[in-house]
Amino acid sequence: MNKRPVLYIIYALLALLILIGCSKKTLPVAVVEPKAEESVLIVDDADADVPVVKDDGYQTLIINGEAIRYDGYRAYEPTDEWDIRSMSLSDVGDFFKESFEVETSTYKLMEGSLMETEVLHVHSANEGPCVYVVGAVHGDERAAWYAALLLREATISCGELYILAPANANGARNLTRFVTGRQDLNRSFPGDPEGNEAERLADAIFKDISDKKPSLVLDLHEAIVLTQDRDFLGSTYIFTDLTGMEDLFFDLLAATGDGVICHNEFGFNGPGPEGSVNATVTRALRIPTITVETFRGFGIERRVYDQLDTVQFILDYLGMR
Ligand SMILES: [Zn+2]
Repeated sequence: MNKRPVLYIIYALLALLILIGCSKKTLPVAVVEPKAEESVLIVDDADADVPVVKDDGYQTLIINGEAIRYDGYRAYEPTDEWDIRSMSLSDVGDFFKESFEVETSTYKLMEGSLMETEVLHVHSANEGPCVYVVGAVHGDERAAWYAALLLREATISCGELYILAPANANGARNLTRFVTGRQDLNRSFPGDPEGNEAERLADAIFKDISDKKPSLVLDLHEAIVLTQDRDFLGSTYIFTDLTGMEDLFFDLLAATGDGVICHNEFGFNGPGPEGSVNATVTRALRIPTITVETFRGFGIERRVYDQLDTVQFILDYLGMR
């Protein structure tokens, strides 16, 4: 019996199956247009097996109405000409316009070391809450420490305000996440006075927060990673435990959703990772802590604005202005 016709039929069927399989992977992918004011992340190649890479090597995502370029893992951070040391709050927006009588003083952490940085203490004669702002434990998250530096102009009607900026001064100087080498300050808390640079800095910051006993800690950060393997942390507020700030946290989220503050709605996430300011201050000191994450795919002005808008909303909420 001649088996060839049967083999031809099998080959033809196999070829057809392979064609169907390939055509699934190479089907043109429709680009989803963002709906007005939609805050969810829209991926234009969500169903593709292979990412759609544009000519310039970047893929494009629409996030909060803006086309964001990314390389499949990190967003492309737009460049800018900002010289933050020569700027003031009014360059970014109408923040902290009312002026109150306060006394200010500064003190150093890790004086004389590579990690030396400064805390500004804003003191009002009127009794009130105490807020401690940690401006950027990651030095490449510029909007976080830019906002904290500008915040030094703010005055308060009551209470105490501490501003540590930049928390990771050496990282900020070198525009790197790390303190030095690959030492991540936000995995080093509560720190160790005998440890490496990040652990010694973490120890100094942790002891300072512990000493000042704030009623709330604000931990300013930014996010750049954009991948389906991990939570998107751009435009989020992170908490480890809401105890003591339940209303504040939800009203803050609602204010972004209602368009009262910030350029877009913020989401929430938690808990903070092991060794972070958020997780450690919350658990070890029982102090409510909010981590603010703006998104580095947006322009610097939008990011610094949203950081300041968040801090101002919280100080207003606590009756400190
Ligand atoms: Zn960070």
